[in-house]
Amino acid sequence: MYKITLIPGDGIGPEVAFAAKKVIDATGVKIEWDIQNAGAGVIEEFGTPLPEHVVESIKKNKIALKGPITTPVGTGFRSVNVALRKELDLFVNLRPAKTYEGINSRYENIDLVIVRENTEDLYAGIEHMIGPDIAESIKIITRKGCERIVRFAFEYARKEKRKKVTAVHKANIMKCTDGLFLEVARGIASEYSDILFEDMIVDAMSMKLVQDPEAYDVLVMPNLYGDILSDLTAGLIGGLGIAPGANIGEEVAIFEPIHGSAPNIAGQNKANPTAIILSAVLMLRYIGEVEAADKIEKAVSKLIKEGKLLTPDLGGNVGTVEYADAVISALE
Ligand code: NAD
Repeated sequence: MYKITLIPGDGIGPEVAFAAKKVIDATGVKIEWDIQNAGAGVIEEFGTPLPEHVVESIKKNKIALKGPITTPVGTGFRSVNVALRKELDLFVNLRPAKTYEGINSRYENIDLVIVRENTEDLYAGIEHMIGPDIAESIKIITRKGCERIVRFAFEYARKEKRKKVTAVHKANIMKCTDGLFLEVARGIASEYSDILFEDMIVDAMSMKLVQDPEAYDVLVMPNLYGDILSDLTAGLIGGLGIAPGANIGEEVAIFEPIHGSAPNIAGQNKANPTAIILSAVLMLRYIGEVEAADKIEKAVSKLIKEGKLLTPDLGGNVGTVEYADAVISALE
């Protein structure tokens, strides 16, 4: 019996999170769900959108499945999603991009994974004005940060039987920061003779991903490039409704879809739960429940390929609940 924290989130979060829970439970994997609420809805009761007991639950259980949480603009409360990544030192942002037959995409055989560093780089937001007319942002890249993300990429490639790791950088221009990233990547690559290694400059990578995404496997990169390229690859496979993700640290991991809380369709039984269901597939693989993970992924692929029972974002007219039930019926 596993104990896993479930954070339903807000907006479409609870609809898609409980749909995913139902699908996972239907595989027969025994999970005791520790349901924890976070976000704007708990501020009145606990004085914060991220109460300490929620963080403690994740630390204790080590694994969480999470729905999206709204970050209101202009109210000053910090993004719960960013706070969780910082507080738990979740240094990996894992974003697979895979084509499913039946979804409108320009490509047929994309199956790549972006391993994005999640804590450093320009993304740390260390910025200031130097007088009124000059703004400066500081890009921090550390050897430790590079080592742990590159090593994760190679270990992931080995575990998932993938063949190639591509390190993405701009070391020709940023010789110190990206130069350090590339130096570390080359060093670690030499320890993995079973996995091919190449490096590519981020601008060339952008072009290649649009022209020939099927040629790539595992891509590892600093934070900002990962932020941009992983949205590009989500676009290549047909959009947000089917793009899963995970934030992983040394001790704990949180699995969540890439999309947000979609307030425009919240509470209407219209949200596509596929992205969180596929995030749960990543979670099941991570904890070693590979058979259940494969079953769910096969069921989702089958439904999408058949194209009869799809949510409105994919051109169908089936609700969130009915879609989840159809996934359960398709489990073999
Ligand atoms: P969004 O992803 O919520 O929505 C963008 C568009 O995609 C909308 O039209 C929405 O209806 C559609 N969409 C998204 N997910 C869908 C799904 N599963 N099924 C069908 N359609 C879907 O992005 P946004 O509007 O920029 O953000 C809304 C809120 O979500 C913001 O407060 C933002 O901060 C938050 N957010 C949270 C997370 C997270 O919790 N990790 C991630 C991104 C955004």
